[in-house]
Amino acid sequence: MAKQLQAIRGMNDILPAESALWQGLESTVREVLAAYGYHEIRLPLLEKTELFARSIGEVTDIVEKEMYTFADRNGESLTLRPEGTAGCVRACIEHGLLHNQTQRLWYAGPMFRYEKPQKGRYRQFHQVGAEAYGMNGPDIDAELICLSARLWQRLGLREVTLQLNSLGSSAARASYRERLVTYLNLRHDELDEDSRRRLHTNPLRILDSKNPALRAVIAEAPSLLDHLDPESRAHFEELKILLDDAGIAYEINPRLVRGLDYYCKTVFEWVTDTLGAQGTICAGGRYDGLIEELGGQAVPGVGFAMGLERLVAMLAAAGYAGTDPTPQVYLIAVGDAAQRCGLALAERLRDQLPVLRLRMHCGGGGFKAQFRRADHSGAQFALILGEDEAKTGTVSVKPLREAQSEQQVLTQDQVPTYLRAALEETP
Ligand code: ATP
Ligand code: MG
Repeated sequence: MAKQLQAIRGMNDILPAESALWQGLESTVREVLAAYGYHEIRLPLLEKTELFARSIGEVTDIVEKEMYTFADRNGESLTLRPEGTAGCVRACIEHGLLHNQTQRLWYAGPMFRYEKPQKGRYRQFHQVGAEAYGMNGPDIDAELICLSARLWQRLGLREVTLQLNSLGSSAARASYRERLVTYLNLRHDELDEDSRRRLHTNPLRILDSKNPALRAVIAEAPSLLDHLDPESRAHFEELKILLDDAGIAYEINPRLVRGLDYYCKTVFEWVTDTLGAQGTICAGGRYDGLIEELGGQAVPGVGFAMGLERLVAMLAAAGYAGTDPTPQVYLIAVGDAAQRCGLALAERLRDQLPVLRLRMHCGGGGFKAQFRRADHSGAQFALILGEDEAKTGTVSVKPLREAQSEQQVLTQDQVPTYLRAALEETP
């Protein structure tokens, strides 16, 4: 036998048994985004490496060690997108979508990061992201948070909490950074290797460290919130009032810094205790400087991205079923003539009942074998065509899920009306 091949580590197949749940999640996400007036933008999976280096930041985990980067055939350095914001901003600038107008956009699809694969952390994973451009105030930050909260509510996810922080302006952050470095230098002995390196490159990220040995150092560090500039402080206070008015509970987490360089002012994460170590299901914030940095006008931006694998894991644990792919009707056809007229009947029924889930038996076999398949399919009804029915233009119908059900003969023209009524009774 030929050698079997396997998928790349950390890149998962989503099998038919799981896809109903994914589809249910995705369609609810699309409905909620549409309800808030967000439009979909579809972006390439590959971008020039420079885009991510410039936007995410040279000294972030993603750019330093997580990107799938390779040389194109012409030698140009390309990268599989590790996140969606950079490409979204690039596209908006390129197509002039930000000239004197606001935009509310969303995107979905796979992202790629070379991480250590584990539960909730993969090398190809899926995000849905929402981005809003051209709006300065905390109202749009609040809207994005309300939108995500509504999504959890629609999905029946209760065990999630909102963590909120403000990173302030870049000037305020620079002066806070100095204080933080002074403090961390005093406790240099307690830092791990990673943090010592970051002390010189990206000290704020130390606050985000997941190493338990650093917990005390981080807890006692000066708080970013005590060093906000007045404008960022007012923005943050107003956001809290808007969330209070909307009835959305939050926890202020002054250590929340987020992994990417481009954030300012509002940052937030939705977290859950139900998934173990990988508990952040959605994360976002404001990035007012990014559009200008990537060559656009000075237009503010704010957005979030959620990790679909982690949401799917939560939904599966909650027993969420997703969209139902089970056929409603199974069409049995025994004998050559019946099979031929079965295919035509199935097509006519699909014309007349466009959302009917009808599975046609293919591959021949006798009544017994076909009934077994019908039963196994989970269908509510079997439509049966034998030689007699084929000859007389009739079809027999049998409910499959009732203990004692009678088979009845209908003309083929009566079938749509019969099914419409019967399926309304048994959804
Ligand atoms: P983490 O702290 O878990 O590494 P992050 O800050 O790198 O997250 P973001 O870049 O903000 O994550 O991505 C937004 C969301 O995408 C995360 O909250 C998470 O739900 C999901 N996500 C990020 N990386 C992965 C991954 N490797 N596998 C699965 N989901 C991921
Ligand atoms: Mg990460």
